[in-house]
Amino acid sequence: MKVLKFGGTSVGSADRMKNVAKIIGSEGGNIVVLSAMSGTTNALIGISEAITAGKRDEALSLISELENKYAGVIEALYDSEDYRAQAREAVGASFVLLRTFPGDKEIVAQGELMSTRLFTLYLHSIGVNAALLPALDYMRIDENGEPDLKAISEKLAVVIDNAGKAPIYITQGFICRNACGEIDNLKRGGSDYSASLIGAAVGADEIEIWTDIDGMHNNDPRFVEHTAPVKHLHFEEAAELAYFGAKILHPTCILPAREANIPVRLLNTMEPAARGTLIDNHLDDNGIKAVAAKDNITAIKIKSGRMLLAYGFLRKVFEIFETYRTPIDMIVTSEVGVSVTIDDCSNLQPIVTDLEKLGSVTVDTDMVIICIAGDLEWQHKGFEASVLDALRDIPVRMISYGGSNYNISVLVKACDKVKALNLLSSHLFNRN
Ligand code: ASP
Ligand code: MG
Repeated sequence: MKVLKFGGTSVGSADRMKNVAKIIGSEGGNIVVLSAMSGTTNALIGISEAITAGKRDEALSLISELENKYAGVIEALYDSEDYRAQAREAVGASFVLLRTFPGDKEIVAQGELMSTRLFTLYLHSIGVNAALLPALDYMRIDENGEPDLKAISEKLAVVIDNAGKAPIYITQGFICRNACGEIDNLKRGGSDYSASLIGAAVGADEIEIWTDIDGMHNNDPRFVEHTAPVKHLHFEEAAELAYFGAKILHPTCILPAREANIPVRLLNTMEPAARGTLIDNHLDDNGIKAVAAKDNITAIKIKSGRMLLAYGFLRKVFEIFETYRTPIDMIVTSEVGVSVTIDDCSNLQPIVTDLEKLGSVTVDTDMVIICIAGDLEWQHKGFEASVLDALRDIPVRMISYGGSNYNISVLVKACDKVKALNLLSSHLFNRN
């Protein structure tokens, strides 16, 4: 069994939905997870905000606007009036509910509820036997807002059983119930998380995440020409890239898949035959695989004679960041100083004031972390040299390697980011 997840743009219009139907074919037993049609979640949040602000007329007019959009989709999606009528009834239930001004979580859940109803009906209309698995009947988060995988697995087994034997199961991404049984969600972009949890719950052979880019690229295509999809990544390599700016998959989202040792494949709905990127627990000794950049970084250096040969100094430094609930990304140390980077500057001033009690403090703003990821086991030679060689003409503020086997991070000025990314691409990937 496979789990296939399609994001908002992949189901963003009648034509795109028809394309998804072609991609999934009628291979038996697979579970298809859908997001809301693109734009819908934002529209629903707008409606919910209008209601909270007491602007009832505005909310009603936003609801009608969204309803019109769905009327157009229904017109284009089905060939027969019979199916159009069923679809109008199916999404109509959501619009009736929206006009009762329910709670915000229930409002925002309507996006996935509508996209899955429309899509399941479409499959029926073209003669494909598909069954809808209601996510609200099995997707659960606990008191801490964390997914409860045990409950999800048990409930999902029952839901699948109740749905009977269908070649294709359709279900909603993103939405769930919380520990009190209320409608809730896995936060923005949470459909990937749903797919990963469902994959882990059913012990899927593979989880496919379908988007409109052909996998994770070896550099940022917005700034670098001739980037290429990376064929294979270890979960660790993918996590390093995602933390450091590659926008494609959040590390938390693939954690359940990773723990259950289920491969995740990133695929492109516009180019279904392309291989995309496979992420799993295997390492393939390929050295440097990809580069990503994380913007809006501030570097803080604390220098103190008291650090020399002293113990406990770093603890004092870290405690200050803990007090102000500010995560640290990169760290480098020398005998007399330590530099760290943060991306949340909301408490920069009090942090600096406290750090000044420990030593002299320097702050560099407008910096960028460039993350070079791959299988960079320290006993292999040469990759540090290639990275630094590529960046020989760029002022580098910090270099960090050895924290994991999968990453070298360098900190440069924001104004040097594009140049640095391009130099790394030409030195590391496009040497011909
Ligand atoms: N529809 C939700 C959102 O836009 C979840 C998702 O698409 O992953 O955030
Ligand atoms: Mg998404």
